Amino acid sequence: MAPTLLWFRRDLRLTDHPALLAARDEAGDDGVLGVFVLDDTLRGPAGPVRLAFLYRCLRALDETMDGKLCVRVGDPAELVPQLAEQVDASSVHISADYGPYGRERDEKVEQPLVAAGRRLVRTGSPYAVAPGRITKDDGAPYRVYTPFYRAWTDHGVRRPAQGVRSVPWIGADPVGIKTDGIPGDPDIDGTTLPEAGEKAGQRRLQDFLAGVQGYADNRDLPGRDATSRLSPYLKYGCLHPRTVLDQLGSSKGAETVRSEIAWRDFYADVLFHNPGSARWDLTEALAGMQYGNGSTETDEQFFEAWTQGRTGYPIVDAGMRQLLAEGWMHNRVRMITASFLIKDLHLPWQRGARWFLQRLCDGDLSSNNHGWQWTAGTGTDAAPYFRIFNPTLQGSKFDPDGSYVRRWIPELSGVEGKSVHEPWKLRGGIPEGYPQPIVDHAAERKDSLARYEAARR
Ligand SMILES: Cc1cc2nc3c(=O)[nH]c(=O)nc-3n(C[C@H](O)[C@H](O)[C@H](O)COP(=O)(O)OP(=O)(O)OC[C@H]3O[C@@H](n4cnc5c(N)ncnc54)[C@H](O)[C@@H]3O)c2cc1C
Repeated sequence: MAPTLLWFRRDLRLTDHPALLAARDEAGDDGVLGVFVLDDTLRGPAGPVRLAFLYRCLRALDETMDGKLCVRVGDPAELVPQLAEQVDASSVHISADYGPYGRERDEKVEQPLVAAGRRLVRTGSPYAVAPGRITKDDGAPYRVYTPFYRAWTDHGVRRPAQGVRSVPWIGADPVGIKTDGIPGDPDIDGTTLPEAGEKAGQRRLQDFLAGVQGYADNRDLPGRDATSRLSPYLKYGCLHPRTVLDQLGSSKGAETVRSEIAWRDFYADVLFHNPGSARWDLTEALAGMQYGNGSTETDEQFFEAWTQGRTGYPIVDAGMRQLLAEGWMHNRVRMITASFLIKDLHLPWQRGARWFLQRLCDGDLSSNNHGWQWTAGTGTDAAPYFRIFNPTLQGSKFDPDGSYVRRWIPELSGVEGKSVHEPWKLRGGIPEGYPQPIVDHAAERKDSLARYEAARR
């Protein structure tokens, strides 16, 4: 037996943690050094809201480790091998990362470790089924969700890993290892974040399970708050999706949650096979698409209005204001706001995707950028170019009593019922302080279809 190092990344929990079990089993009583590296390559695009949530998750983790989490700031390729040497670890244990940057980084960390006679041991991943595992019969990856889901279901998901009894953590200080500590929260401008950490995630899961039967019928209604809101915990691995799947039971609601978690695995798989799709269109079908509105000034004004929830389309503005207020947005409204940016304001999906990643506390490269590409018609959906959400109809259909819009747009809080979705039709005019629509949806829809047709030709 020899000490080991557990390098935490997107697995900030102690239960259902196969890499932790492997680290502990290899170390025996010789101890495990738990490390998290704050890497500026990942911190850069994260934005203060996600960083604040991450730091809070780290604090919660540190507490469950009796203050023995070693946090370092810098380049993992330097720091992890150094720390392994300092504690004379036989191995560094990780949950495998399948993202474009993470894979490369892990290879860079592995080289000096191996050169020094140590191992980088990958056990488990942040997914129910690891990317790359599910393929067609000929070994090719899936590009369409429904057959992926069928194969994912046939493949099955493992049961949660057995609980950790106790881990002999090696604290940083006693062995003279430097810890930089967990930074204080950055300024998040009043954004209200969910409680962070594994215990909070577990509580959120139990609350959600109590009403999971209603999920299938209500998940598309943002005014109901019927979804799990587990995404931030899944993002940082405070909960593993396997833990969620294991407790779902078998109602219609449970089956629908299962299929949503499969979407998460699907997008991670698509990104794994197509790392360039983090930045560029997955398909080339719309490579000739013209974006923009004839002047940078107009583009900037449109983008600003969209980010601040001041487009004059209530369901869009409510979503964008929820994002600013909570660092989270309901899935249906993510689709509506994304469609509006691309198809009504004619701005490229990448701009919206970047804004979401800066603002979402669950911001995740594969789910986000492929959610955007799905909406843009550049991703995994087969024939989407004609699907242009009408923001007024979407509002009336999915927020039928207008409660979601009234919750987030105080200027419209006095407008009753679904008329809140068309404030320009109110007898007294648009309530004071709320903007006129910045574009005419009917005209922009036509424009968008013409651009798509031109791009397809
Ligand atoms: C434009 C756009 C951007 C998005 N950006 C992100 C993102 O950055 N991070 C993120 O986690 N999800 C993203 N999603 C997917 C989805 O909107 C969120 O996962 C969901 O709203 C989170 O809320 P919830 O936990 O209550 O979901 P629930 O409805 O309770 O679903 C349970 C879990 O299933 C997964 N899931 C649900 N829907 C999807 C989906 N469409 N794609 C992938 N996974 C899904 C999530 O992990 C979620 O927590 C995006 C979707 C769109 C359309």
